[in-house]
Amino acid sequence: MKYITFQTSSDLETRQIGYKIAQILPNGSVVALLGDLGAGKTTLVRGVANGLNIREVVQSPTFNIMKIYLKGDRPLIHIDAYRLNDVNTDIGLEEYIGYENGLTMIEWPLFIEKLLPKDTIYIELIHDGEDKRTIKISSDNLTLLEALKNA
Ligand code: ADP
Ligand code: MG
Repeated sequence: MKYITFQTSSDLETRQIGYKIAQILPNGSVVALLGDLGAGKTTLVRGVANGLNIREVVQSPTFNIMKIYLKGDRPLIHIDAYRLNDVNTDIGLEEYIGYENGLTMIEWPLFIEKLLPKDTIYIELIHDGEDKRTIKISSDNLTLLEALKNA
């Protein structure tokens, strides 16, 4: 896998990366979001929602596991698998991961690793201190990485 990185210095800058992601990622893309609590995973998803013209406020769906936003340009499926921590839960998540013309963004993806498609895009958010974050986007799709870099 190849990767590109961005450095951000504010919540807003991370949301701007999310905005680009919304413009560039093809339909059915699945994004696995890695990073500690407070790294900025949900913040990035907010930027994606903004880029898709979703007006609802995006919250971390930790307690409800999944939330689907249908009122934007394309569907956004936001999953937080934290509470699925290795329990073998059959709640039909696989029906939504990679859903048709949507974008699927997954927090704590390692808890549902078996459900992730092979072409999952991995985005790691690294807390560099205070408001600084490194955002590392990994994929086998070089064209896509190139497009994100130039967006
Ligand atoms: P996670 O979903 O990874 O637990 P959140 O996105 O909920 O993280 O929280 C990130 C917190 O860090 C928010 O309070 C956000 O305002 C703050 N923050 C500060 N600087 C940044 C940055 N550069 N990128 C993203 N979030 C930032
Ligand atoms: Mg979160």
